[in-house]
Amino acid sequence: MEVQFQGAAREVTGSCHLVRINGSTIMLDAGLFQGRRDDVRRKNEKLPVPPDDVAAVVLSHAHIDHAGRLPFLAKHGLRAPIFTTPATLDLSRVMLADAAHIQEKDARFLAKRRRAHQEPLYDMDDARRCVDLMVGVPYGQRREIASGIHVTLLDAGHILGSASVILDWRDGFETRRLAFSGDIGRAGLAIIRDPVPPTDVDAVIMESTYGGRDHISVSGARDALADVVTAAAARGGKVLIPAFAVGRTQELIYSLHELALQGRIPKIPVIVDSPLATEATAVFGRNAAVFDTSEPFVRLFGSDPSGVLHHGLVEFTESAEASKAAMQRRGPMVVIAASGMVESGRILHHLLHGASDPKNTILIVGFQGEHTLGRRIVERMSPIKVLGETVDVRANVVVLHGYSAHADHGGLLAWHSAVRATSPRLRKTWLVHGEASAQDAMLGALARDGVVVSAPSLGARAVL
Ligand SMILES: [Zn+2]
Repeated sequence: MEVQFQGAAREVTGSCHLVRINGSTIMLDAGLFQGRRDDVRRKNEKLPVPPDDVAAVVLSHAHIDHAGRLPFLAKHGLRAPIFTTPATLDLSRVMLADAAHIQEKDARFLAKRRRAHQEPLYDMDDARRCVDLMVGVPYGQRREIASGIHVTLLDAGHILGSASVILDWRDGFETRRLAFSGDIGRAGLAIIRDPVPPTDVDAVIMESTYGGRDHISVSGARDALADVVTAAAARGGKVLIPAFAVGRTQELIYSLHELALQGRIPKIPVIVDSPLATEATAVFGRNAAVFDTSEPFVRLFGSDPSGVLHHGLVEFTESAEASKAAMQRRGPMVVIAASGMVESGRILHHLLHGASDPKNTILIVGFQGEHTLGRRIVERMSPIKVLGETVDVRANVVVLHGYSAHADHGGLLAWHSAVRATSPRLRKTWLVHGEASAQDAMLGALARDGVVVSAPSLGARAVL
């Protein structure tokens, strides 16, 4: 067995790993690289493998840095089935259509600005073709995906439908098992179940996004959210939250609902200004079967836990007009809008109008990659450039890592130690999906525990 790392190698985007077993190539994820436009364009345009060579794809979850290159592969001839959970299949329909829309819009924008024709990476038809290749495999079911190679998906506890992937195959008299963590979530998230670590494996490909950093607890994050919203409401300001449309937005809606019902925040409007988040919330509603019903608040909704996402405080804006109207509204409110790293989307318009008002708060609840506007806000840079205009940041900036859907340093180590405890044959661990400093922290910690571990660079190959 050989693994080749074709993305998310010493960085957090572009997840893609090729596993070659007994002559078959299995692709784990094919995510978009994100960051500086010209750099990532080059990387995204390079096929990680000739699409004809792929026997099967396994997709860990619907986030675009894991799924966003699949339509590009479909455009260039990928016909292999893409195995994933039914909820990820459902979410991918929404996410990949949105990604294709952004690609088309970007190409038009660049054509206008640089007067040069630039093909979109892919279009809506490619995205549709890609989703048509997807096959839903429920958690825990073992399925043959190529000759003698089986997949089992376990709940990764990160976002709706997210999976850790187990591949197993025969090697002489032995069965071999490789685990790919996908993105590892954390215990105690509102709607999502806790991660299920793989067992009895020979090798692990593991994410490391938050190596070296620890989050505050989920309940601590809820307390901090209550403080931020209450303080902003008292000042008559808005709380502007850039958030991933899938996962973070629904967690926030849930928390705000809970806090309002408990009387811990004033009942101010919560505006979800993102068509993608609106659609994704509907997908959550259809997949309530995989919700964590041990959570008291979800349990409260009995037979329809999806109702938790549609309560009186929340308004979902659909049209551009409704979005503009929301921007003009005065008085305290919470606005949740994509994109999560403040790279595109309606949050830019809200910041253009709201970042210079000291009554407002910009609340950062997610990971901000290098070279993104979100990272500059976290680093308290001012002024910033928003939609081509210079804006002084006079709003409060609050960074709250407790809403992360990723395990922190301690969580990652606990996950690996659970895998080790049930895997006497574990020989190798490869770290992916982390910036160099995060990976170095994890390399050190795991090596101290006696784990054989490395962090491969882009294109590197490793064998078991
Ligand atoms: Zn993710």
